[in-house]
Amino acid sequence: MDILEKLQSGKRLDRKDGEALWKLDFFTLGKYANEKRKALHEDRAFFNINRHINPTNICKDICKFCAFSANRKNPNPYTMTHEEILNTLDKSIKHHITEVHIVSAHNKDAGLEWYMGIFRKIKERFPALHIKALTAAEIGFLSSTYDISYEQVIDLMIKSGVDSMPGGGAEIFDEKVREYICKGKLSSKQWMEIHDIWHKKGKKSNATMLFGHVERREHRIDHMLRLREQQDKSGGFNAFIPLVYQRGNNYLKVEDFLSSVEILKTYAISRLMLDNIPHIKAYWATSTINLALVALEFGADDLDGTIEKESVQSAAGAKSGSGLELQTFLDLIQTSGFVPVQRDSLYNEIKKYK
Ligand code: SF4
Repeated sequence: MDILEKLQSGKRLDRKDGEALWKLDFFTLGKYANEKRKALHEDRAFFNINRHINPTNICKDICKFCAFSANRKNPNPYTMTHEEILNTLDKSIKHHITEVHIVSAHNKDAGLEWYMGIFRKIKERFPALHIKALTAAEIGFLSSTYDISYEQVIDLMIKSGVDSMPGGGAEIFDEKVREYICKGKLSSKQWMEIHDIWHKKGKKSNATMLFGHVERREHRIDHMLRLREQQDKSGGFNAFIPLVYQRGNNYLKVEDFLSSVEILKTYAISRLMLDNIPHIKAYWATSTINLALVALEFGADDLDGTIEKESVQSAAGAKSGSGLELQTFLDLIQTSGFVPVQRDSLYNEIKKYK
């Protein structure tokens, strides 16, 4: 059965099929991904009103692709106090945010209580606010630093008010590429194990993939297949988020930026390979809002959110530092021919903007 017959049959695609998808004509690939998206989500484009907070950039790790952590190229270390975080949210809550998205660097001087106290205090002041926090990499760091198991960290997170986990720290699962770009960070197996524990607690998470650096197309397919296998077992991933590598201010010397065609193909292939993950997110902070809107016709159905402020990708050159106004966001989605649907963090619909 050739790849077109397989796509028409709706059968699950394997590794060989994944590789064949790259060879398809750009528009044919887009058409199949778009059909798949439409079957799942019709003309809805999901987003949420959220605020990103990155409480510290002091990190014990040295990932080559990272421009966020304080280092020689970015020498401005900071650690926010709990009060500063709460004051930030006092302002954001006026913009009707429903989610705070918190990811940090691995700061070994901050203390476990500093991390957990952030969540507890946010929940005390804003009980209805959904807290999405701590990547698997941060959980791995807290576990090794404070000599407690992953499950103990997770239990503490839940007790302190964390509602769901973001998908960061996945980077690329291929062990050789991972060793090259982020030696010392938790392994792919550990990343999966942490999400498995989280899902077994009845909780949801997302999964990312950092692409466009030194990995090859086959590594992206491998990454998707490992996630699909995990999703078959634990079923807790809500969204897959391909993150476009940003080349500024870091130690991974990649001169070429991916072409828009390659980025769109990656979204499309994600939609087709990941038949068991409901949402594909075009995270506009890394792809640009313009390309994210086009990605809605190449398999993506979610644009993340208004963000308000973002420090991780913008440190590496992404134009996402100050987020987007809600009305601008809605206008952009509508003029692209889609219906904006404000969702909560677990993809329950809050409001449809017809
Ligand atoms: S990617 Fe995360 S773990 Fe790696 S250096 Fe940056 S902040 Fe630290």
